[in-house]
Amino acid sequence: MRALVQRHADRDVWINPPPIPLSTPEMDHVFDLPYARSPHPRYADETGGHDGPTKIPAWEMIRFSVNIMRGCFGGCTFCSITEHEGRIIQSRSEDSVIREIEDIRDKVKGFTGVISDLGGPTANMYRIGCKSPEIEAACRKPSCVYPGICPNLNTDHGPLIHMYRRARLLRGIKKILIGSGLRYDWAVRSPEYVKELVTHHVGGYLKIAPEHTEEGPLSKMMKPGIGSYDRFKQMFEKFSAEAGKKQFLIPYFIAAHPGTRDEDMMNLALWLKRNGFRADRCRPSTRARWPRRPRCTTRG
Ligand code: SF4
Repeated sequence: MRALVQRHADRDVWINPPPIPLSTPEMDHVFDLPYARSPHPRYADETGGHDGPTKIPAWEMIRFSVNIMRGCFGGCTFCSITEHEGRIIQSRSEDSVIREIEDIRDKVKGFTGVISDLGGPTANMYRIGCKSPEIEAACRKPSCVYPGICPNLNTDHGPLIHMYRRARLLRGIKKILIGSGLRYDWAVRSPEYVKELVTHHVGGYLKIAPEHTEEGPLSKMMKPGIGSYDRFKQMFEKFSAEAGKKQFLIPYFIAAHPGTRDEDMMNLALWLKRNGFRADRCRPSTRARWPRRPRCTTRG
């Protein structure tokens, strides 16, 4: 792969190609290292000790969160993950993930039994990828899911469902939440997965990112049409009702992405109104682990 270079005024931004994908044993080796699972000691002076009044936002975000994979084959044009982590998904073994949950349970101060995330760049890409390594090695498509889901993509959510079920049964674990962004366009291909997620892993609200409602900006972003959101919403509401839970979807949108016309923003505003949402905030996403992007969240 070649480096990506983009000119900004009198400077160039240079993005090196992603590293060679790690195998599962290599991923496990990295994640099984004996991490301290606490902020770096130098922060203790600034915060008056780790339990002091000043919080470290990045630490708050990750301390009960488990990363199960790297990489993303979405190729959304506003996001750099595919560029720096690669398009090929690199997954940890289930045993390694379970070991980390137990490690958090046994070592991290303040753990109350709730894992805040079991995810990665995308919540539901675990062990998903091209059916053929040979085709994958030769493929130059920037996305496996745009403009439609590639027929060569394995969309089996089985290993992820198995992991969720095993993690829920661990001693001392009360709840496993899924906080990472979900690709709902292929999640809907596995009703069993959506049911599992909605029944056991949503803490009242699930944030998802249609990013826009209009085809023009969505095509520039390389994102699926809003029809996929509608299909996912139907399943979400059906499984929430079956579980006897009152749960809500919180959609995120990008305002003024390149290629967006005033008319597109007007139509987005009308969609929000029709669906009973109010824009809640427009500022860079607060997700610290992944690259930041300016987006709007909504309130029902
Ligand atoms: S052939 Fe399809 S699934 Fe395989 S790498 Fe290319 S786009 Fe992705």
